[in-house]
Amino acid sequence: MTIGFIGLGHMGGPMAANLVKAGSAVQGFDLSQPLLGDARDKGVTACASLAEAVAGVDTVITMLPAGKHVLSVWEELVASVPSGTLLIDCSTIDIDSALKAHEMAAAKGCPSLDAPVSGGTGGAAAGTLTFMIGGAEQAFADAAPIFQAMGKKIIHCGGASAGQAAKICNNMILGISMIAVGEAFVLGEKLGLSHQALFDVASVSSGQCWSLTTYCPVPGPVPTSPANNGYKPGFAGALMLKDLKLAQEAAQSAGATTPLGAKAAELYALFNELGNGDRDFSGIIDMLRQQSAAKP
Ligand code: NAD
Repeated sequence: MTIGFIGLGHMGGPMAANLVKAGSAVQGFDLSQPLLGDARDKGVTACASLAEAVAGVDTVITMLPAGKHVLSVWEELVASVPSGTLLIDCSTIDIDSALKAHEMAAAKGCPSLDAPVSGGTGGAAAGTLTFMIGGAEQAFADAAPIFQAMGKKIIHCGGASAGQAAKICNNMILGISMIAVGEAFVLGEKLGLSHQALFDVASVSSGQCWSLTTYCPVPGPVPTSPANNGYKPGFAGALMLKDLKLAQEAAQSAGATTPLGAKAAELYALFNELGNGDRDFSGIIDMLRQQSAAKP
């Protein structure tokens, strides 16, 4: 299979490398020359333009920062590929842009999927990403081997944009639950409770959740969590804010009431304003602790 891969950044670079490992010929393009060089070192054919990267391919994958990048790249894509080429966007983008991208593909006679991921850069490198997929059943079935080369869990969520919907709903839960777990540890500290004691109780009680048991925001109880590594991401605060804003945008246009999602977006905006955009999102516990310490 020959695949065009557009956007070879933190996520796209290792994803393209895993497609090569699985035996696909991958033609890659990125605006950044150094990233093209890195991709070449991993067996990707580095192309000088988008048109060159998509020439003669069966499938094109995009992994780009935001909706506006995806729409401008897909506009060029549909002008360059023959009808029938499978187009897959793995970026995390707003629902409206995802729907527009599907419409552009349909107008050209190309099957299309929105397929955002979770699992971060570690999952991209290890080939263990979770893919949340929106689009037609047949396109999903055709693309299954491609997703299997880059991921471990592959879930068809429904029609066009259902993958993006699942991604932003999941990450809204994650943002809210990380703040909840951080607040509980800060309150526990004020009450003289050790981190380990709270972890031992909550991890086997009704407070149990991923933010606690896999990604514990204090050092100690879960040795692999970013708290043990100076909050090096992992999943950066800037990306959490991006996803919470997408959830709020979607909630407003769909008419859903999400008061805790709105509050989480506000708190992560403050976390970013305080210069924490490059820190892991679980570092928000420090901000909560500082705010608590400031109180009489
Ligand atoms: P990134 O900024 O490292 O990579 C994006 C790449 O797209 C950059 O290298 C940029 O040069 C390239 N690009 C932009 N416009 C382009 C164009 N017109 N043509 C060709 N290349 C272009 O970002 P990332 O961390 O790889 O994230 C990509 C997407 O995945 C985002 O939507 C992000 O929200 C999502 N995501 C990221 C993570 C993570 O942990 N980094 C986790 C899950 C989802």
